[in-house]
Amino acid sequence: MNSLPNIEQAQLRAFERFKAAGISSAGIDAQVLLCHAIEQSRTYLFTWSDKLLTEAQSEAYELAISRREKGEPVAYIVGTREFWSLPLKVSPHTLIPRPDTERLVELALEKMGDQPGTGLDLGTGTGAIALALASERKDFQMLGVDLQPQAQALATENAQALNITNASFLQGSWFDPIADGDKFDIIVSNPPYIDEQDPHLAQGDVRFEPDSALIAKENGLADLRYIAEHGRTYLNEGAWLLMEHGYDQGQATRDILLGLGFQQVTTEQDYAGIDRVTLGQYKGL
Ligand code: GLN
Repeated sequence: MNSLPNIEQAQLRAFERFKAAGISSAGIDAQVLLCHAIEQSRTYLFTWSDKLLTEAQSEAYELAISRREKGEPVAYIVGTREFWSLPLKVSPHTLIPRPDTERLVELALEKMGDQPGTGLDLGTGTGAIALALASERKDFQMLGVDLQPQAQALATENAQALNITNASFLQGSWFDPIADGDKFDIIVSNPPYIDEQDPHLAQGDVRFEPDSALIAKENGLADLRYIAEHGRTYLNEGAWLLMEHGYDQGQATRDILLGLGFQQVTTEQDYAGIDRVTLGQYKGL
């Protein structure tokens, strides 16, 4: 029988396997997956580095390591990802929330004004953006929509687990589930915006994420255009639309918004200084 490793040895072994597999986040991945396998915090790893793993913990860790070695995202292996300090359940039916999308949340909060209101998050996935906004603004009623029934169910589950009662979720394509005449004070979206030929689809986490959350026609612009065009019907006068997009889509997205009559159209950068969110205000034609 193999002798069981202690925490430090187990972590080092995983780190070396991840490095050999070309994973750049080898150190942090080894820690996060070990914390998950032994159901302990990261501080525990340092405090109890010579504590032996149990047989069950060692097996759980080995299973997680082999999944990660094959490229599977850490968030899918552990089943959660933190966004805007909210622990969210994730699944392979949804995009894994990205830190850069927190920039969209920041900008949306700036545009939400100081009156109570309503907000719509299109292609909500885990519910990340809608839940972040709902957690900050209890006086806003947030609605999230997703085409995938599994995403709608997951977002609903996340809202319940976090005790966020001012966000609800519907299944359907973009504006289809919205009742005629309903209008919002803000519309946000992180839609699919990657071109299907983009070589970056063959690298890293995106290989395991659903194409429906990543890829859009028209060089990735089709869904951005659809949301902006139809969004006009669902925005109250003076309300804002904010959409995340790719690093090279700022100009094209601004052109779309300007062509549709949006005002104060600007593109903002993410934390790496890359064009990431374009926003505009709709005051009617
Ligand atoms: N920002 C993500 C990536 O490039 C994609 C998110 C999206 O398509 N909405 O990995």
